[in-house]
Amino acid sequence: MKQHIFLASPHMSEEGYELEYIKEAFDTNWIAPLGKNVTEFEKELAMKLGTEKAVALSAGTAAIHMALKAVGVSQSDVVFCQSLTFSATANPILYEKAVPVFIDSDKETWNMSPTALELAFEKYKKKGIKPKAVLLVHLYGNCAQIEEILEICKKYQVPLIEDAAESLGSTYHGKYTGTFGDYGIVSFNGNKIITSSGGGMLLVNCEDAAEKAAKVLYWATQAREPALWYQHTEIGYNYRMSNIVAGIGRGQLKVLDKRVEKKRYIFEYYQRNLRDLDGISFMPIQSDTRSNCWLTAIQLEETCQVRPMDMIEALREADIESRPVWKPMHLQPVFADCDFISQMEKLSVIDEETGADNSICGQIFKQGVCMPSDTKMTEEDLERVCCIVKKLWG
Ligand SMILES: *Cc1c(COP(=O)(O)O)cnc(C)c1O
Repeated sequence: MKQHIFLASPHMSEEGYELEYIKEAFDTNWIAPLGKNVTEFEKELAMKLGTEKAVALSAGTAAIHMALKAVGVSQSDVVFCQSLTFSATANPILYEKAVPVFIDSDKETWNMSPTALELAFEKYKKKGIKPKAVLLVHLYGNCAQIEEILEICKKYQVPLIEDAAESLGSTYHGKYTGTFGDYGIVSFNGNKIITSSGGGMLLVNCEDAAEKAAKVLYWATQAREPALWYQHTEIGYNYRMSNIVAGIGRGQLKVLDKRVEKKRYIFEYYQRNLRDLDGISFMPIQSDTRSNCWLTAIQLEETCQVRPMDMIEALREADIESRPVWKPMHLQPVFADCDFISQMEKLSVIDEETGADNSICGQIFKQGVCMPSDTKMTEEDLERVCCIVKKLWG
């Protein structure tokens, strides 16, 4: 029997660092959403990424929620959000009853298009509306056009939040993603490049970082006021990371660089072996950026004889996991009423089955496949995947 191949699965350190930290938590009875592992994990990640403050939370989604609150997003505020992403990026906007406006991608990075963002600012300026935040994603580890986006945000004086859930370890001009915006978030969910079994971190890069981090910590621990009794003046959340979870995270952080190396190797392997197939192309990576290659994503051009669903199905039959590229948020029924800004003038549905439209991100979705990118994959596994894929071309 051939082994199942995962898209991306947890990969604990060969050295067993995670268990050592967990054992220490047990030995000292710090089985709580606070303790040495939590504090050290925050410090270690902040040090690694070069950011002033990091706050460990129960999930990346919670970190996005806290970032939105920290920049002052509240009811009816507008937030410009990348459309091509996982719903966890956008949902917290709704937790605050704010209004997401989705922004199209560019072809160069698949992430937020600076052109479309500029169009959005112009459109909303005419309505007399200034968004409260811009929410950018570095999809599959691939860096967005961060300098251009930052410049636009500065011009309109709107804070930038970077969703680096998928791009931990990726660098843009040598600087880690998640550290450019006023706030950045990372995730340690089970499928991410490193995992704590579930968890996330808020990176605070703005001025008064210590003060802002303290405020988030306050909201994330039930908004408890400093009094002997339980005193509350604001609505709080139970969003802190457990000390056990943080122990796993600390162990994983030690192997982050190693995992990035392997992910990049997987990307290069696929590129080397599949790039000559007719109509196939790879997620473009800009020069001067170093992607963590969390998932290798490909495109099957309109003219390609193989359809994405055929490839996913063929791999599934061989017990290999792959999946479509994220379905853009502006195409999701739950966000049907939301505005969407694209550089394409006329939008129309191009695929009845999936609902994909001719926006840039709609086309990326329609033509995209995420290849199995599990760091536990062996040379034989990679060969097996490539063999099945090549067969589809006859
Ligand atoms: C995984 C993910 C999140 C959410 O992280 P969780 O830790 O699972 O809450 C947010 N945004 C993107 C783009 C993600 O891939």
